[in-house]
Amino acid sequence: MSKPQRITVLGATGSIGLSTLDVIARHPDRYQVFALSGFSRLDELLALCVKHRPQCVVVPDAAGAQRMQAGLRAAGLAAEVLVGEEGLCQVAADPSVDAVMAAIVGAAGLRPTLAAVEAGKKVLLANKEALVMSGALFMEAVRRSGALLLPIDSEHNAIFQCLPRDFSPGLGRVGVRRILLTASGGPFRETPLAQLEQVTPEQACAHPNWSMGRKISVDSASMMNKGLELIEACWLFDARPHQVEVVVHRQSVIHSMVDYVDGSVLAQMGNPDMRTPIAHALSWPERIDSGVAPLDLFAVGRLDFEAPDELRFPCLRLARQAAEAGNSAPTMLNAANEVAVAAFLERRIRYPEIARMIEDVVSLEPVVALDALDAVFAADTRARELAGQWLNRHGR
Ligand code: NAD
Ligand code: MG
Repeated sequence: MSKPQRITVLGATGSIGLSTLDVIARHPDRYQVFALSGFSRLDELLALCVKHRPQCVVVPDAAGAQRMQAGLRAAGLAAEVLVGEEGLCQVAADPSVDAVMAAIVGAAGLRPTLAAVEAGKKVLLANKEALVMSGALFMEAVRRSGALLLPIDSEHNAIFQCLPRDFSPGLGRVGVRRILLTASGGPFRETPLAQLEQVTPEQACAHPNWSMGRKISVDSASMMNKGLELIEACWLFDARPHQVEVVVHRQSVIHSMVDYVDGSVLAQMGNPDMRTPIAHALSWPERIDSGVAPLDLFAVGRLDFEAPDELRFPCLRLARQAAEAGNSAPTMLNAANEVAVAAFLERRIRYPEIARMIEDVVSLEPVVALDALDAVFAADTRARELAGQWLNRHGR
């Protein structure tokens, strides 16, 4: 038997991080944890170190490092403690690492994810914001380094499973007509529009089918998540925005589909549990047990489909416009959305103001080409400044 693959889990304390560790723990002969990172929940991170015994652990700052070192010592562990973004990039690119789970939320994950890409790792991409904000440069880095980029987002993982093994000649050349990106519609699919002014962060985070971190839960409620996923799909599968159609499918059993020119539509189905795409990407091209229960189609009973309502979900329209504009537009959209979601979670703005803030911010700046990472961060910073000003004018 070959030796276990060494895995770095960036964002280990989050929803995806924990699911990843659950799958890894089922296969100690195949996988071994090399490094774990956390940000605010350091007690949980220490408990994960006790369980998974990584060689390295990354914390946000010096105070966190002191606490972590004391905790590790008390537990009789000798893991090396690294700090901040530099530490994250180091454990992502370490020569002894085979695969990196990129599961930090938001723009904070860009540099560490890129470090893994540039080191030519197998990169399991959950952190969609990293790809959305730096698409062209990110994919160029993948090509240059020969990194293996595998999608964790359930929709993109499904699409990947429904495409031929080598789709790099282009979707048209492999006979694909459209990608059908499924969306649950989130908790507000049927809420009367007038009531959306009053919905709370708790309601937005109560997703009907998936259990996820708070930021992506709000994105799912607004369908900005689907918008970011549309942009993500364009980069991962070399598709144009008009080739990606969003289909609301409230059961979340079909995770996405590929429509071929001969009329075949291939779908990937399963229970809504992220351990399936995680196990798929970890072991690809093999298959391993993920701990997910078999799909009970009789219990599911029926599968419904409907077109998304862009009046109800303006974020979807904004994301499609950004996908079509390209260049700095998705970067600005993503940054404005991060500020808007954080403000909504802090109750500084109402739910419908998420879309209003984003629309105002992205319409204020001309779209510019992003030819280097500095330009990406400049666009990100500019959008955050504009969003901050918007908040000062309209927020509570
Ligand atoms: P989460 O909030 O549960 O976890 C986020 C992780 O990132 C935590 O470990 C946290 O410590 C870390 N983190 C947060 N801010 C950080 C910072 N500034 N620097 C370093 N680390 C930081 O989020 P999640 O639901 O696990 O989502 C993670 C990523 O995966 C997101 O990009 C999300 O869009 C994507 N994703 C999640 C799901 C899901 O089901 N949860 C599905 C598809 C894609
Ligand atoms: Mg998804």
